Amino acid sequence: MPLKTRRNSETVREIVVQLKQEFKVSEGISKTIKDEFYLECSGCGEKLAHIVVTELIETETPVQALCPFCGDKSYVKQVKGLFNIGCTEKTKLANFSEKVINKEIVNIIELEKA
Ligand SMILES: [Zn+2]
Repeated sequence: MPLKTRRNSETVREIVVQLKQEFKVSEGISKTIKDEFYLECSGCGEKLAHIVVTELIETETPVQALCPFCGDKSYVKQVKGLFNIGCTEKTKLANFSEKVINKEIVNIIELEKA
């Protein structure tokens, strides 16, 4: 079951967290995929988190993933729209937090080795 959490309540923003070891696109979601990509570690290059944009709205959400392999992290990526966060075959979602980077609240995706 996807866990829905709402962050930054001043804007309508919904992050649907898929707490599965491997993100699998269900039939329902696949029809609404607008964009998808991986957050990759800027240190070791490993794919860390799978971002699937399901609805295009103007809101942009800054996200960054922490690497459980080398301790580095991905670059901060601005994700436009509503999106799902999944992990990869090698990673597992551990926690979400927020961190102020360059005066902006960035959603931090913490991962563990799968
Ligand atoms: Zn790394």
